[in-house]
Amino acid sequence: MEASCDMLAADRAGQAKSLTVLGATGSIGSSTLDLVARNRDKYSIDALTANENVGELAALARRLEAKMAVIGNQSLYADLKEALSGTGIIIAAGEQGLVEAAERPVDITMAGIMGAAGLRPTLAAVRQGNRVALANKECLVAAGSLFMREVKRHNTELLPVDSEHSAIFQALDDSPRQNIAKITLTASGGPFRTFSREELRHVTPEQALKHPNWSMGRKISIDSATMMNKGLELIEAMHLFPVAPEQLDIVIHPQSIIHSLVSYVDGSVIAQLGAPDMRTPIAYSLSWPERIDTPVEQLDLAKIATLTFERPDEKRFPAISLARAAMLEGGNMATIMNAANEIAVEAFLDGRLSFMEIPSFCEQVIENVQAKNGDKSPHSVEEVLDIDHSTRIMAQSLIIM
Ligand code: NAD
Ligand code: MG
Repeated sequence: MEASCDMLAADRAGQAKSLTVLGATGSIGSSTLDLVARNRDKYSIDALTANENVGELAALARRLEAKMAVIGNQSLYADLKEALSGTGIIIAAGEQGLVEAAERPVDITMAGIMGAAGLRPTLAAVRQGNRVALANKECLVAAGSLFMREVKRHNTELLPVDSEHSAIFQALDDSPRQNIAKITLTASGGPFRTFSREELRHVTPEQALKHPNWSMGRKISIDSATMMNKGLELIEAMHLFPVAPEQLDIVIHPQSIIHSLVSYVDGSVIAQLGAPDMRTPIAYSLSWPERIDTPVEQLDLAKIATLTFERPDEKRFPAISLARAAMLEGGNMATIMNAANEIAVEAFLDGRLSFMEIPSFCEQVIENVQAKNGDKSPHSVEEVLDIDHSTRIMAQSLIIM
């Protein structure tokens, strides 16, 4: 018995798991590929995708011996083809190309595309039955119930990558859901945690992009500064975990050492801790139920010495209240809010909207879209994408005015 177990373990160790990375050139993609490069015996790359950066995508595909490379921007197909000529790597472009990459059967798909643009490709991976390591939280915000229905239907293993959700996943025990009293998401508070409303009025994109603890893509960095990110994460948690929305709470924890906590009815609270480095939750989503080595520094609690906590101030950061309302209201509000926020963040980065206008702008877009289209829940992914599309048009027209 012992010998056959050893043989099985050897077998598993000998066979690298195939991995597709959607959004390979982003922050999540780069951290994932850093782990792959350190564990070439454990993971082999199947497909890599990016939106615009042909040079980096081609270099990654060559270096990691990918079988397929896809560029989201259709007009860059010829450039990618030229960059990879003679390699035998399959090339594709556009949304259809992203879906083709995601549909290939692999052991794990890292869903690291930013925004609702990741919905179709991520769903294609879910439907294929690949394990999906989900970083792309906007998928769940825009299409939560429909997305989770597909996960169940295809018996897909969905592993959270967001650090808070990975923490919760690790802190949940096997006891019945009635034993969970509440789930608390921690939030760093972002770069403007201590700013007054007056100071917030004048903050620039450069200041907002400088997160105190985490190094991330531009959109999520702005979401962290407005705290919309924590709002999106509430909705993400509601879909991922078996609790009622009222059981989800937020606490500000500026050191970002405790990544989230689960409180049980007997008074126990189980938390997950670690250095603020996405390679830990990413590694767990790849290796679960096992664990792999990462270069992430081990915590030295005596050196950290102090962990502090505060209640979030929803007056200065109203995006949290807006997202909570979307979570409680249901219907199409989260889909609209997500699309409006994507446009608002872009507009803030381009200097067309001020920082404080981001949440009020989202609210205004929600009102306008619902006044025009009603507030019914979308019944299909096509309907979600229609709402997403019409919201973007409405949002752009409001910014121009
Ligand atoms: P990023 O901007 O650094 O990278 C995004 C990736 O998606 C890039 O490879 C880009 O080419 C690709 N992409 C962007 N738009 C696309 C489109 N329209 N079509 C196809 N591909 C497109 O973003 P990121 O910080 O890596 O975040 C990715 C996702 O992970 C987001 O949903 C974010 O909320 C989530 N997330 C990120 C972090 C983090 O630390 N960066 C933490 C938790 C969750
Ligand atoms: Mg997070």
